[in-house]
Amino acid sequence: MIVGAGVAGLTAASALARRGWRVEMAEAAGPERTTSGWGLCLTGPSLRALDELGLAEVCLAEGYGLSVITHVDVNGEPAGRVRLPRLLGAERPAMVGMARPVLHRILHEAAERSGVVVHHGMTVVAVDQEDELVRVRFSDGTVRRVALLVGADGICSSVRGLLGLETSVDYHGQMVWRALVPRPAWATGVHHFAGKVNTAGLVPLSDSQAYVFLTENGVEAGTLPDAELAPRLQQLLEVFPGRVGETSSLVSVQESVVRRPVQTALLESAWNRGNAVVIGDAAHAPAPQMASGAALAIEDGLVLAEELERRESVGAGLASFVSRRAPRCRTLVRASVEIAGLEQAQRHDEAYRLVDACHRRMAEPA
Ligand SMILES: Cc1cc2nc3c(=O)[nH]c(=O)nc-3n(C[C@H](O)[C@H](O)[C@H](O)COP(=O)(O)OP(=O)(O)OC[C@H]3O[C@@H](n4cnc5c(N)ncnc54)[C@H](O)[C@@H]3O)c2cc1C
Repeated sequence: MIVGAGVAGLTAASALARRGWRVEMAEAAGPERTTSGWGLCLTGPSLRALDELGLAEVCLAEGYGLSVITHVDVNGEPAGRVRLPRLLGAERPAMVGMARPVLHRILHEAAERSGVVVHHGMTVVAVDQEDELVRVRFSDGTVRRVALLVGADGICSSVRGLLGLETSVDYHGQMVWRALVPRPAWATGVHHFAGKVNTAGLVPLSDSQAYVFLTENGVEAGTLPDAELAPRLQQLLEVFPGRVGETSSLVSVQESVVRRPVQTALLESAWNRGNAVVIGDAAHAPAPQMASGAALAIEDGLVLAEELERRESVGAGLASFVSRRAPRCRTLVRASVEIAGLEQAQRHDEAYRLVDACHRRMAEPA
């Protein structure tokens, strides 16, 4: 039983089902939910992991292939280019920009093709370990005993709390903005612009679409009325010199603008209790600056299935899974927090070097 049909949950579901597990999922949201956040970058490690599930090609076909990050300094001058590792070979791009709803659809369809059953509008309210089984009580009042419970319910995971695995969710003084815009012809890679206060950038999602991102520094976490989102983002973009400033006029549709706090969470010790485990953001949520939270989530799903197949018991499989994953995930979460701090301190060159080093580290096997 997997709780949460996001990136981690759906990938784990497909990976386990392909290895012969009978998998069901409990997802709090309804089937009509549209995943918010517009776009994301699937970096090399994401594509490498998706390739093992036979899904890299469809992601490349439905997204926009990217291999270079171009950095621009506070005066609008070029500040360097980072060529990202091409983990699927020289012929294929290093990463792909994708609309979130498209990725979600691809992962959902793959899980259903593997026989996974998704129960929408359902969550877990109590968990107890009973010998080799996990006794799970659901929000509809039903009780099931399952061989494995996977909590993949995101950064504010309730499964994590039900298992007594406590961690803080930390806010880092930054709000991140995303807005869907028409792709400018010059945007064929990721562009990152340092500003005097904030940072911004652009990621292509398809031939016709891109998303603008902006990281607002030194602000309290909070929400703005929907009607204020587009005009406020335009104001924040207008002060940038050069190309990204020009994109402010492309931000026009209020519903396409999202604003989220930069938050992180990290389980420093156990990720499991008996035969129940948490994965993805529920165990390790990085700040978005490394664009790698989904990569870790997808890798978790694959490695979980691999380690469970390799070991004789679920308990032993979970222990190997956690010891294989924890160092990599810890490194990435901590680095992402450091990058967020460097950005706020306007130490952009150091931030770029750390981003580059981190992508190289992530290129190592999961
Ligand atoms: C602004 C922003 C930009 C980002 N950009 C990138 C990027 O470019 N590249 C990248 O790799 N990563 C990026 N990330 C990180 C990435 O989005 C996450 O790491 C990833 O979505 C984690 O996947 P997950 O499945 O663990 O959690 P989620 O995607 O949060 O999915 C959790 C699922 O569980 C469900 N759920 C929640 N609570 C319950 C419950 N109690 N019961 C049942 N179901 C529940 C939710 O509805 C959801 O479907 C970004 C994050 C942010 C905030």
